[in-house]
Amino acid sequence: MQRTKVKLLASAVLLSTFATCNTPTNPTLPMSIPDTNLVDRKPAVAGQFYPDNPIELRTMIRGFFNQMTAPENPGFTMAIISPHAGYVFSGEVAAKAFNQLDPQKQYSTVFIIGSSHRASFGGGSVYTAGNYITPLGTVPIDLELARTLAMSNKDLSFDPHYQRNEHSLEVQIPFLQEVLKKPFKIVPILLGTQDPGICKSIAKRLKPYFSPENIFVISADFSHYPKYEDAVRIDRMLADAIITNNPETFIEAEQECMRESVSNLATGCCSWPAVLTLMYMTDKDPLIEYKHIAYQNSGDSKYGEKDRVVGYNALAVIRKPNQEMGFDLTDPEKKELLSIAKNIEESNAICVIIKIWLFYSDQLKSVYQRTYIYDKKEICLIFAELSSLCL
Ligand SMILES: [Zn+2]
Repeated sequence: MQRTKVKLLASAVLLSTFATCNTPTNPTLPMSIPDTNLVDRKPAVAGQFYPDNPIELRTMIRGFFNQMTAPENPGFTMAIISPHAGYVFSGEVAAKAFNQLDPQKQYSTVFIIGSSHRASFGGGSVYTAGNYITPLGTVPIDLELARTLAMSNKDLSFDPHYQRNEHSLEVQIPFLQEVLKKPFKIVPILLGTQDPGICKSIAKRLKPYFSPENIFVISADFSHYPKYEDAVRIDRMLADAIITNNPETFIEAEQECMRESVSNLATGCCSWPAVLTLMYMTDKDPLIEYKHIAYQNSGDSKYGEKDRVVGYNALAVIRKPNQEMGFDLTDPEKKELLSIAKNIEESNAICVIIKIWLFYSDQLKSVYQRTYIYDKKEICLIFAELSSLCL
């Protein structure tokens, strides 16, 4: 990598200060923007936070995934929390978060939620003006859903300009482009608010979409600018608070670390409203489990200093299989499972058994609790298990 580029990437982490929100205005553009007038969002931080050359970018991201194995989660990954600094600082931790996604899954919509670092505004801004472009290509916005959301909640607006120069959503997208093997649409939501009540209202609006068909990517860095040892402690404290799945515990932890008067600490989590919005969606759901995946801070990078760092946690939100309430595949998942079965030419018998399993046998459904089927091997395994049960 060229020296100037490294310099630019290195300076990117210092830009990760968080914007404060003083003016709870929420101006709204006209509700219907004709699709012929779409204005695609061009990359704002390519060449700074990550390489602007697609080959370099791909090589860099693939390098992060080197020797990573697929996670073994007993359920669905519903969301990840991923950092958003320059890739030379936080790319490895981000890759560990994205490794929790199922690369072969056809996600209906990928929601990306972050907090504004550059503009001050109330509520949240949903990008509905066009698609997102990165050096790896164009990612379509789920325009219909994005517009529906912005129209139906007073705290969400259409204003596209808030996202124009913001890095925290953009830096997540090349990872999605590299990891997901099937086409996907995104809904990028940038929060300007620092009001927990508004986070709760937005969470309530988004909660119907918090389902296994979709995935939520929450863009968040953690402590800003303490020395290395303080960052490790504070970042772990906030990660532990998130893992409780109690939004109030998280708010208290964020406030507590600021009360400690740690030298040079500007925030415990620059995007706490985005994390809080996620936590209001998962609050008190006994099937939800937060998992801590990875941690580093900028002091771990060869470009970072140890006396002034930014912290990066990767977390995953897993929905555990419901052992008591019976089989819980959604309709799109049933359809996908059937289409996988139909594509296995040599095993019509398997298709029949899977149909029975899906639609007729409550007893088998409660025994197996399978939440997702990936490939032929797994279908064969189920076949073998069902056969032995039927004998
Ligand atoms: Zn940040």
